[in-house]
Amino acid sequence: MSFLSDRSPSSAPPKVIIAEDDSLTREYVATLLRNQGIEVEAVDSGQKAINRLNRGRVDLILLDIVMPGLDGLDTCRLIKGITQDEYLPIILLTAKTDIDSRVTGLRIGADDYICKPFDERELLARVNNFLRIRRMHEELNESRTQLQLLSFRDELTGLFNYRYLHSRVSEEFKRAERYHEPLACIMADIDFFKDVNDRFGHDAGDQVIKESAQRVLNAVREIDVVARYGGEAFLLILPSTNFPGALAVADRIWRAIGTEPFHIINTSHKLTTSLGVAVFPSSDIRTKDDLIKAADCALFQSKREGRDGICVFQHQGYFYHPGPSAPPTEQ
Ligand code: GH3
Ligand code: MG
Ligand code: MG
Repeated sequence: MSFLSDRSPSSAPPKVIIAEDDSLTREYVATLLRNQGIEVEAVDSGQKAINRLNRGRVDLILLDIVMPGLDGLDTCRLIKGITQDEYLPIILLTAKTDIDSRVTGLRIGADDYICKPFDERELLARVNNFLRIRRMHEELNESRTQLQLLSFRDELTGLFNYRYLHSRVSEEFKRAERYHEPLACIMADIDFFKDVNDRFGHDAGDQVIKESAQRVLNAVREIDVVARYGGEAFLLILPSTNFPGALAVADRIWRAIGTEPFHIINTSHKLTTSLGVAVFPSSDIRTKDDLIKAADCALFQSKREGRDGICVFQHQGYFYHPGPSAPPTEQ
């Protein structure tokens, strides 16, 4: 369970739950916190505090220890158990004399305790401290998610990178084997791309790679995985796609790059692509590496046969070349 998922923007006021069976104390603490701009939900039992957690973001919980039903210690134990993947601070409210409960509370994961009767300033200082720590944890989590996203993506095109692709191919290959589903792989490479760099410069070349990536993305379904595979090459994994389907996608990519010229520094420049297609199951493809290698082989063949076309890797290493005018069949 994660309460981070529906987190509101960091500018939103913090949310605190207070669970306390004594209505006077409950209202007193609630008012104290509300006066500080904190959103407070006050409940009279541990169970209600847990129920409230399921309804969205909470930043801190104040738990009275002695309550009928689920007491504060059990509630604390349960909440710490279900919020292991985030940091949700819990402060116990305890009688000054009750050392045993305080020690138990800290042992089972409570973050702090406040003794009744409490000093207003101390209570506010402790609450604000833990809200600050909670905020830091959230920011850290956000940065980590952001970094993870970046580590999957190619910086120039925003497409998946080589590393991500390899882990995804493994997953998709296992799925295809288990459910007897076809899995297609296409490798596409822009022809004579070096000329673009030589004529227009590296930056213009970058822009062409970016636009090509967009054109390739537009030519496929959302579930298809498109990755940048080195300089001006793209590798695609198409789940649940059979031979005619893969050929149709390859054809669309071929047209997407070749039909409309690219506008490079006030010039229209036509480019073509060569594509290699491989489909699992096939007698020569037993692993995900075989599948990628087969698509690579087919691409190499496509280049050898004059570029600007599609080659399909078939059984026993036989290559089929539908040629530049391959009609789209199905998808
Ligand atoms: P082929 O038809 O055989 O594919 O020829 P090609 O010129 O497209 O292929 P080659 O492998 O000979 O050259 C690819 C060029 O792409 C050379 C390399 O400098 C350039 N390149 C690789 N990565 C990038 C990049 O990120 N940006 C730019 N602008 N150029 C790149
Ligand atoms: Mg009580
Ligand atoms: Mg090339």
